[in-house]
Amino acid sequence: MENTWKSIKNHLKENLPSHAFNTWLEPIGLIGFTEDEIVLEVPNQFFYEWIESHYKNQISHAANAFTKNNITIKYTIAPDKNIKLENFDPITGTAESKSKVKKHNLNSKYTFASFIEGTNNQFARAAATSVAGSPGNHSYNPLLIYGGVGLGKTHLLHAIGNFIISEREYADIVVASSERFTLDFISSIQKNKTEVFSKSYRNAEALLIDDIQFFQNKEQTQEQFFHTFNDLYQQGKQIVMTADRLPKEMKGLTDRLVSRFESGLVVDIQPPDYETRVAILMEKAEQSGLDLPYDIVEFMATHIKNNIRELEGTIIRLLAYSSLTNCEIDFDLVKKVVRERIGGGLFTDITAGDIIRSVSEATKISERDIVGSSRRMQIAEARQIAIYLCREIMGSSLMNTGMQFGGRDHTTVLHACRNIEKKIKTDKRISHLVRALQKDITFSLA
Ligand code: ADP
Ligand code: MG
Repeated sequence: MENTWKSIKNHLKENLPSHAFNTWLEPIGLIGFTEDEIVLEVPNQFFYEWIESHYKNQISHAANAFTKNNITIKYTIAPDKNIKLENFDPITGTAESKSKVKKHNLNSKYTFASFIEGTNNQFARAAATSVAGSPGNHSYNPLLIYGGVGLGKTHLLHAIGNFIISEREYADIVVASSERFTLDFISSIQKNKTEVFSKSYRNAEALLIDDIQFFQNKEQTQEQFFHTFNDLYQQGKQIVMTADRLPKEMKGLTDRLVSRFESGLVVDIQPPDYETRVAILMEKAEQSGLDLPYDIVEFMATHIKNNIRELEGTIIRLLAYSSLTNCEIDFDLVKKVVRERIGGGLFTDITAGDIIRSVSEATKISERDIVGSSRRMQIAEARQIAIYLCREIMGSSLMNTGMQFGGRDHTTVLHACRNIEKKIKTDKRISHLVRALQKDITFSLA
């Protein structure tokens, strides 16, 4: 299979400009092959997206030329590789990635120190810290961290490993995605080396398994994992797992595995709130030597909501754009990049005036009152809705929004947004009104 992969690469090399090949294809590694699947490894998310949008066809064309037709190509992101594209991975920092020594397959960037705490991840972080401090020693075994994509599960998992080896350099930590586990298992069967496989996993002091949802519907692998799990558990070794949902919500997972998985401590990570998003952006920008003004950070945090990987991706993309096109990072560039990421159409030439007018029409409260200083309940509510909509629809900064509403300061604006966010969840009348307004205002532009 190494040879097939070599042939595919050579084919690409002959058919692509050399700078493109060297930059984007050369760093791709082969992880595994099955009948109808090739699994490739790329250095980071940005890299993956770039390949998908620029070289997808060439790669699958080349792959099909050397394998049976319609082979599927899958990518995984390298947990810890010397990243070859320093320019495109500002988060890692060039110097660091060059000198990084590979150990344990742990990504050395993913530490507790670089993990920003927010109300969304506090509990998970506390549990992870506690487990890292005394692995295997308490009832948090196994620890299962679950939550949506890009919310920091893998980061926390590696942080546990990194912490343990920072205390004892030669601790035997095994960290693997469940896909890796599966591939190792399959290839050990093919090569008659199941003992080596068992050893490498069952001697671990701590076993960190990422994304266990991929065990779904893989009975043999589950069986194997079950034994590994029990073995380690009985020896008092720490097991930490991550998943994108609760085990009992996974399909095709045997009952005994589900009950094992949930027998220790189960913690979740939620999407980050606004403040956490701002904190993360500031931190990531700083790490990559990017000096972003606060209103740009605010704008990004307002529009990119559910996923920290997305926030990071936006910064990486900003840097890539500005370095490729040699232009400054300004508001226009940020808008362009954010628009690309969230799929356009969100912000336009709407002004605060338009929004205030719409709110006034819907609530029968005069525009003047909306921007005025009255604290009467209905008026204050209409004002808060208008403020909320300005932020949601235009993504205008806290300060700017405050200016539009009679020079209020940013804490007032923040408070208004929070209040409305809360009411949308609990108060049907408000949620209907806000939704209708949102629709009206954005539709009137289409
Ligand atoms: P998941 O495994 O949940 O899909 P990751 O752990 O891969 O998510 O996180 C995606 C990216 O976001 C990573 O680069 C990670 O470092 C970053 N990240 C996630 N949560 C945080 C956080 N709380 N502080 C700093 N960076 C974070
Ligand atoms: Mg992950």
